Amino acid sequence: MSVQAPQAATRILLEQQEMPRRWYNIQADLPFPGSPPIHPATKQPIGPADLAPLFPMELIKQEVSQERYIDIPDPVQDALRLWRPTPLMRATRLEKALKTSAKIYYKYEGGSPPGSHKPNTAVAQAFYNKAAGTKRLTTETGAGQWGSALAFATKLFELECMVYMVRISFEQKPYRKSMMHVWGADVVPSPSDRTEAGRRIRAEDPQSTGSLGIAISEAVEDAAKREDTKYSLGSVLNHVLMHQTIIGEEALLQMERANAMPDLVVGCVGGGSNFSGLAFPFLRDRLQGRTKTRFLAVEPDACPTITRGKYTYDFGDTGEMTPLVKMHTLGHRFIPDGIHAGGLRYHGMAPLVSALVEHDFIEAVAYPQRTVFEAAVQFARTEGTIPAPETAHAIRAVIDEAVKARERGEAPTILFNLSGHGLLDLAAYDSYFAGTMSDIRLSDARVQELVAAL
Ligand SMILES: *Cc1c(COP(=O)(O)O)cnc(C)c1O
Repeated sequence: MSVQAPQAATRILLEQQEMPRRWYNIQADLPFPGSPPIHPATKQPIGPADLAPLFPMELIKQEVSQERYIDIPDPVQDALRLWRPTPLMRATRLEKALKTSAKIYYKYEGGSPPGSHKPNTAVAQAFYNKAAGTKRLTTETGAGQWGSALAFATKLFELECMVYMVRISFEQKPYRKSMMHVWGADVVPSPSDRTEAGRRIRAEDPQSTGSLGIAISEAVEDAAKREDTKYSLGSVLNHVLMHQTIIGEEALLQMERANAMPDLVVGCVGGGSNFSGLAFPFLRDRLQGRTKTRFLAVEPDACPTITRGKYTYDFGDTGEMTPLVKMHTLGHRFIPDGIHAGGLRYHGMAPLVSALVEHDFIEAVAYPQRTVFEAAVQFARTEGTIPAPETAHAIRAVIDEAVKARERGEAPTILFNLSGHGLLDLAAYDSYFAGTMSDIRLSDARVQELVAAL
């Protein structure tokens, strides 16, 4: 019996010197007016001075910039070169298993030291803070991916790092906390007794398991109170999405090299940053009328922000300390049920993604978690890589689109973002195999109630 050699490598690489040297700022190309963040007290658009206690001025400028391209500073490029450019892969074995005529490509962001796309912005934010004289950064983290990315980046740029970690994850997912400790960060479970916001929640509900919205309030309060400290957010904001566009700029070069341009770009969405990072450089061509590429954002049924939330002004945090931003939201008091994709449990969505959904440039779909893990396992058993539960949402949608293409006799090119590996999420896979995982769907009645309260 002859054993067939594995297929030829389907990996498209870039040389280090080909790494893009500028970020793409989609704000320059939007064919509709933006909706500015509003000060909750004055109801007026906020200005740079309102954000200055929290962010260094360069990041505030990027937040509102209308420049199409912003140069990546040399020290940030040097940091990115620790793991970039990242490979683009063609999922030929998955295609074969699905008997699809679709071509499936993915950009692999799991090779960064923390294992996801998140350090792409963490190193940039750490750099701009260091350059502005910041000594210490605070942040929140859910499952710990962002906290570990910022811990890594602050160590590179010699800053202190204080992480407020959602209590349930702090207790149930110890290994990302361990990573943060290895990189020298302080980590406390949130709600904590270190901030007024935390103490208030604990007084109301001593058993509180925490939420991203609560942890944001704590991290913001900590930063606002200390002269030497600023705050860092891992998603949602315009400058964060822009820092992630290095993913799409690289992918564009690699797809050109593979002689394949995507008909469909797919990513999972928590706050919207990895999806935007891959999608925006391709969306640039669509906005300029050069392509008809579709863009699909994938979210969990337990936190269906885009598909079932309301597009309106809301707070970014539970404690009502942030500006009001216009976005798809389930309400800033909403605490989603515990699902394994901790990174997709934010009540809101990046304003840029929300606006592009509203103007029909981006589509969205939501899935329950068991079917998401089924897709993750199929992917791992064909392509090898074990994806993060967040990423698996994108994979579910890609598989469904590829099967649809087969049924319709079409052969689209699909590109998705493999935002992170799942090697610290194996307990979730265990739960899937043990049959103890349940599909959690937010009920219509609850959505009605949440949206009515806005
Ligand atoms: C945090 C995270 C996400 C979700 O965040 P976005 O800002 O929407 O990208 C997705 N995948 C992984 C691996 C993550 O760590």
